Amino acid sequence: MTTSTGTPTVMWFRRDLRVAANAALDAAAARGPVVALFVVDPALVGSSGGPRLQFLRESLAALDASLGGNLVVRVGDPRAVVPSVAAECGAGDVFVARDFTPYGRARDRAVSEALAGVGVTLRGIGSPYAIPPGSVTKPDGLPYSVFTPFWKTWRRLLAERSTGPSGDTTSVANAVVGLHSDPVDWPERSYTAVALPAAGEHAAWERWAWFREHGLGQYADLRNTPSVDGTSRLSTYLRWGVLHPLPLIAECDDSPAAESFVRELCWREFYADVLFQRPESAWKNLDGRFDRMQVDTDAAALERFAIWQQGRTGFPIVDAGMRQLSATGWMHNRVRMIVGSFLVKDLHLPWQWGARHFMDHLVDGDLASNNHGWQWVAGTGTDAAPYHRILNPTLQGERFDPAGTYAHQWIEEWPLTGPPMVDHGVERAEALRRRAALSVA
Ligand code: FAD
Repeated sequence: MTTSTGTPTVMWFRRDLRVAANAALDAAAARGPVVALFVVDPALVGSSGGPRLQFLRESLAALDASLGGNLVVRVGDPRAVVPSVAAECGAGDVFVARDFTPYGRARDRAVSEALAGVGVTLRGIGSPYAIPPGSVTKPDGLPYSVFTPFWKTWRRLLAERSTGPSGDTTSVANAVVGLHSDPVDWPERSYTAVALPAAGEHAAWERWAWFREHGLGQYADLRNTPSVDGTSRLSTYLRWGVLHPLPLIAECDDSPAAESFVRELCWREFYADVLFQRPESAWKNLDGRFDRMQVDTDAAALERFAIWQQGRTGFPIVDAGMRQLSATGWMHNRVRMIVGSFLVKDLHLPWQWGARHFMDHLVDGDLASNNHGWQWVAGTGTDAAPYHRILNPTLQGERFDPAGTYAHQWIEEWPLTGPPMVDHGVERAEALRRRAALSVA
């Protein structure tokens, strides 16, 4: 270990792969030497798709470079690894940004207990969110279950708070000291041919600067046009905590366009809050009345699912979206809604199948945003007027991609000549029939 005076603090990085504006890292560095740790947890590696793992690998390399080559990477169950690293360097405390996912909470409870057994404290400072899940509540303290009132309270609370941690990266990086790292045997699927965003804080801030300058002013107008670069494309950086939302919000003015961008950031916080309040809703219907809904899971359903996955449905905007996902690990938000609606309402498949496929392929794959995005589309989640909204893939294409520019970008054999795999009118009626059979108000 590199020597530096004082008892070290372990900074355990998880979903906050950055040096700038990192409250837990700032707090650790303010006390003296810091051991910067990342644990490659086989349980998380096992459930992560290739693009996400590739981005993680590349982000760890970038973080290591920002920390002067002192990032300590260890492989194994954090319940064993974190106490062992704390003992190895004689740390008194382990600092983390709090994690609010079901797995993260259970893991942190167990790690905290294991650390307590050796006299070390796990301290949670900050979170991946502007306002931590669980803090935006109704006046009576109960959680919100629909977005608009959550957004109003969240916006007010945010205005009352300071902008958060400083971005003083130099002094923090100087405080970091090294230990040996484990070699990591990354799975084959983490070496993909997918064109991912550039890793690292520098690239993330460059993208933000470009968007703030050239995209933000037109965001409200262009955010539904998948053929143009009209959204921030920061979701991957936010997912991994390469960026924190607070410094971005601090750089937004009060124009309507900037406000509509902040509102989208709030959707991310809303879904994290819903998952925090109802952890079982990760894979189960938030609205349990839909558990009785008839969905298809037989061999024919599996065949329809494969056609959807490959982007061969015959509906241009659906196929373009699915192919954009395979090629880039990302899909435009409007198109995520269209392909999702198609899977649930036209193909009558379980939303969980779509959510799993997205998690396997999205580089920004985030359990809360993804699975509650899917539940929103399926009408089983937080949406107030849910199941009757059935997106017509032809009309959506005509409206949001009128010249077929987006379809042409992603479909090699454009224009499509074969018939679509289903008749939307027929399947729409079938979806409504299944909904009516539930006799839910
Ligand atoms: P922008 O339009 O620039 O928005 C800025 C940021 O706000 C995004 O980076 C994201 O962090 C947040 N945001 C925007 N829209 C939403 C939303 N509807 N829900 C939650 N956060 C939002 N987003 C993910 O980050 N990870 C996912 O796994 C994910 N899965 C989705 C699945 C479905 C079925 C749907 C309908 C949406 C999903 N989203 C997910 C939300 C949204 O599609 C992406 O956040 C967005 O397309 C990312 O592009 P952007 O960064 O350019 O977004």
